[in-house]
Amino acid sequence: MVSITENTAILSKYLDLPQRGKVLAEYVWIDSEGSTRSKCKTLSKVPSSVDELPEWNFDGSSTGQAPGHDSDVYLRPVAFYPDPFRKGDNIIVLTECWNNDGTPNKYNHRHECAKLMKAHQDEEVWFGLEQEYTLFDEFDYPYAWPKGGFPAPQGPYYCGVGTGKVYARDVIEAHYRACLYSGVCISGINAEVMPSQWEFQVGPCNGINMGDELWMARYLLQRVAEEFGVKISFHPKPLKGDWNGAGCHTNVSTKSMRVPGGMKSIEDALSKLAKRHKEHMLLYGSDNDQRLTGKHETAAMEAFSSGVANRGASVRIPRSVAKEGYGYFEDRRPASNIDPYLVTGIMVETICGSIPD
Ligand code: ADP
Ligand code: MN
Ligand code: MN
Ligand code: MN
Ligand code: MN
Repeated sequence: MVSITENTAILSKYLDLPQRGKVLAEYVWIDSEGSTRSKCKTLSKVPSSVDELPEWNFDGSSTGQAPGHDSDVYLRPVAFYPDPFRKGDNIIVLTECWNNDGTPNKYNHRHECAKLMKAHQDEEVWFGLEQEYTLFDEFDYPYAWPKGGFPAPQGPYYCGVGTGKVYARDVIEAHYRACLYSGVCISGINAEVMPSQWEFQVGPCNGINMGDELWMARYLLQRVAEEFGVKISFHPKPLKGDWNGAGCHTNVSTKSMRVPGGMKSIEDALSKLAKRHKEHMLLYGSDNDQRLTGKHETAAMEAFSSGVANRGASVRIPRSVAKEGYGYFEDRRPASNIDPYLVTGIMVETICGSIPD
């Protein structure tokens, strides 16, 4: 049987038809599982700002986001991006979920995050997120791993080059281009320590844009992988045993950290982070305890630690930052499955706020 997606020659005949001025807007939202969902709406013209995009809704009882008797969840556009799949004037619209009674939906963490970012906007906080993830085949087997066995132990795969050392480069390359086309601030990619595990970096982005851009990059990755018949996992420990987990290292700087002498501000931030370790860990992803074991380039999750160039600490100060005396720091605790709105939100609250002793 020929699968539908193989009929690309037939499909292209239709995709080439003119749209007669209409614009397709794919509305994306975050669901109760921390995945994205989307549905499409025809617009009569190209929007020039996000305010021109209509509010919409969906059946929240089908996504675990609302009860059946009051199932409408509203989609409020917050940003839009050129659509790399449909191209032309078509767009992808990132939305926030709101309930019928005017409160933010339980899984809408953007709303609170935006308030925190606004309250501390004069600090001009920048973030850079390193999104690690793992590829699986359609049968939920680690992508390209030998059937019924294991690949050779970790070592050759990190930034690997050559057959048997790197897998699925085509998927990753396609995603990179899709992000660039959409204007997502993707700053790099690399193959990871475990075979078929990869990373992309988004940033630096300021304030609320960090969460928006990471969610859009994740959505694009799921869409690209769907075309290749590959599954994406953001689980922090997708395979038990002597295989690296997956994180979402969170690089952070404030205005005062980025100028000469900024190390003082970095140290202040680290002492504030040490005091709120437990509060942060609650928002740093589910199943993160399986990853933060103290092995595989992680710190154990019980206690906060920091160090220059130390990849076994909760927070690392890059060597170059320590040398120059200013720059940024890297929080290595967040898991790959975080909601970036929760993580960037509490980060700003902690390092820009004053914590009572
Ligand atoms: P690693 O050595 O930890 O693998 P990466 O190169 O993967 O580092 O990621 C470093 C990230 O730090 C980049 O995504 C970049 O956007 C981010 N970054 C660089 N400078 C700053 C800064 N001043 N503030 C916040 N983030 C920054
Ligand atoms: Mn219907
Ligand atoms: Mn990295
Ligand atoms: Mn990495
Ligand atoms: Mn890192």
